[in-house]
Amino acid sequence: MPRAGKSYAATRNEDRGIGHHDNVSQLSPWLRRRLVTEEELLRSVLAQHTPQAAEKFVQEVFWRGYFKGYLEARPSLWREYRRTVLSLQQQLTHDQSLATDYAAATAGRTGIDCFDAWVAEVQVTGYLHNHARMWFASIWIFTLRLPWPLGAEFLYRHFLDADPASNTLSWRWVAGLHTVGKHYLARAANIEACTGGRFAPQGLQEHAAPLQERLAHPQRALPRLGNQPPAGPVVLLLTEEDLHPESLGLDRHQVRGIAGARVSRDAVGLPVSAQGEAFGEGALADAMARASEWFGQPAERLPALDGDAMAAWAERLGASVVVTACAPVGPVEEALSDAGNWLAMRKLRLMPLRRTYDARVWPHATKGFSAVRDQIPALIDALDLENRRPEQGRLDL
Ligand SMILES: Cc1cc2nc3c(=O)[nH]c(=O)nc-3n(C[C@H](O)[C@H](O)[C@H](O)COP(=O)(O)OP(=O)(O)OC[C@H]3O[C@@H](n4cnc5c(N)ncnc54)[C@H](O)[C@@H]3O)c2cc1C
Repeated sequence: MPRAGKSYAATRNEDRGIGHHDNVSQLSPWLRRRLVTEEELLRSVLAQHTPQAAEKFVQEVFWRGYFKGYLEARPSLWREYRRTVLSLQQQLTHDQSLATDYAAATAGRTGIDCFDAWVAEVQVTGYLHNHARMWFASIWIFTLRLPWPLGAEFLYRHFLDADPASNTLSWRWVAGLHTVGKHYLARAANIEACTGGRFAPQGLQEHAAPLQERLAHPQRALPRLGNQPPAGPVVLLLTEEDLHPESLGLDRHQVRGIAGARVSRDAVGLPVSAQGEAFGEGALADAMARASEWFGQPAERLPALDGDAMAAWAERLGASVVVTACAPVGPVEEALSDAGNWLAMRKLRLMPLRRTYDARVWPHATKGFSAVRDQIPALIDALDLENRRPEQGRLDL
């Protein structure tokens, strides 16, 4: 927290290499699953720094909500991306040239020093610095000339913070598909400067044109969801999309049972690294233990995130309403949508709750990030994120 102010603003673009990323928070695996919520993080930061000093860090945190809201308004971007990954994976089985280039890139055998090092880093740690992710995606697309969805899938599979919105939309942004015609080209001089001279990449394509696509992805109205739990008894379902049940607004006495369930990423065609799997398991177990203590009920693990398992559990506990935190567009949301239909046939109700934070941020995420950025002071006020304790002095670091 002390380094989230001016120090972060001054150094955040430096990729200092494996084991030395202490100029950035490395909090994304926890934020992505809401083991730590954005509100919690922003409150801590704004308790220590003035909004001016923390401006850059605060903006970065809002990028997460921006991408979430954008994908929520255009779910076809995710569905189309998934379809393309599956068809490219098929292509890899018979297109020898694509298969050879893809194998060299994902084994870190391209001869481009930084790229090969980032392949190794993400495989060992599950993390890459934001700048490295941008350069990685740019080199994948414009220098190696590989299809961007395969690169996005490769990183998704290895990141501990793998996130449908941030990953897919960041790749599209680098390619020039998010802000149409505006792409991100990795430059050797910039990489050398921001990595402290650790790399001197050769042969980067620094003048490529942005990618184009024919499909349009129309914006939909955000699905209407409440943020208030119903009165009366409920059971609480925890998924990896939101593991902060204490702040969902549920009354301790109304929760009759707690369960946790995960979508196996293998099941949706996204095989995940062993450490990603272990992190997801640990995250869910942690939230189940906290929820059990908070609500004074045992927490059990469902065998799968599906309607059958959820219905059997709710019926056994005599509950007709299953409350869960809203899952934004992605594999969990897809599983919950199927499960909700199944539960309805059994006269049970699945009730996702949208957090106030999301309800406030997402409506601004329809075009570029600037619309969210311009709202940050109002959002900080509306969400009451600056209610620091008076005795806490604020740093201007
Ligand atoms: C090609 C590409 C793929 C990406 N894939 C993912 C992904 O799968 N999951 C993921 O969580 N982030 C992804 N990002 C966004 C960003 O790189 C990471 O969130 C960030 O690097 C995490 O490191 P940190 O926690 O140290 O960030 P810090 O610099 O400490 O930032 C604080 C927090 O702000 C948020 N944040 C910062 N930068 C961004 C950003 N550009 N977009 C969205 N949120 C941001 C994160 O929650 C982060 O934890 C991707 C970016 C690119 C360019």
